[in-house]
Amino acid sequence: MSTSSWGKDLSGSEKIVINEHTIFQYHPKFESEHEVEIESKIRQDILRNCCNITARKTVIYPATKLAIKLANCTEDEPCNSLACPKCVRLQRLHFIETTANALWEIQDELVFVTYIPYQQELNNTNPALIDIPSIKDKFRCYLKNTGIEQIAIGCVEMDYDLNSSSWVPHIHFLTKEIDKNKLKTLRGKINTNHLKTREGVKNRPLHVKKIDFFISLIAYIYKFMWQAKLIKKNRGFKQKKVRLADDTAIYSYLLLDQYSMKDMEFRYGVRRNKNGLSFTHSAE
Ligand SMILES: [Zn+2]
Repeated sequence: MSTSSWGKDLSGSEKIVINEHTIFQYHPKFESEHEVEIESKIRQDILRNCCNITARKTVIYPATKLAIKLANCTEDEPCNSLACPKCVRLQRLHFIETTANALWEIQDELVFVTYIPYQQELNNTNPALIDIPSIKDKFRCYLKNTGIEQIAIGCVEMDYDLNSSSWVPHIHFLTKEIDKNKLKTLRGKINTNHLKTREGVKNRPLHVKKIDFFISLIAYIYKFMWQAKLIKKNRGFKQKKVRLADDTAIYSYLLLDQYSMKDMEFRYGVRRNKNGLSFTHSAE
């Protein structure tokens, strides 16, 4: 992956200010105002054309209402919906900036972790039954019961897996490298509940990776682009992601509309207020 298309390795560099003007410099893939304007129109069209959806009668009214909400969103009167690409873009900038600032000093010690609660996988095109607050609460309990005292910050995301026709919620987060024994205990606690959920499939509920591009990774965590994972053709871990089918997309927009970015954020030992983040656990 080249640094020009992905981002810059900022370890050892002077602290930078992340804002609308500088983020392109450090994360060239960040969406432009023009791109989100187009995406908003695409979503409005999808929401207005929900004729093929099975549960059309129950969905048509909220979908049309959401299409109007997105169409009426302006700079002066933002709709603040998590289904609105224009509002998400602005909120992402704020979240990326505040998280990058809070973690700047410890960026070289961070790891990127993905937690997948396989038992929450939902075999339905509508993800409404997935209990997002409980996924965050349960994972916070795992961390607490393992005696992990360092901070962790990230976000809940969902993919629609075309292999299993299921929504797969997961949490991406950053934390300092976890002590080996504690990581083993944590995996043990998680595996007891997660490994037997899919017959014949080896689940990997906790992936830990080193980080390369600090700002890009934070931008990735707060991306809110729920997508479909293509059917696996080989045994590799990387699966290509594509736009959701229209009916699945409508359900996902309706669900996103019910939450705020703060609701989707996963915080452990971290508090967020309007000025940014403060740590309630030690960052040491
Ligand atoms: Zn909006």
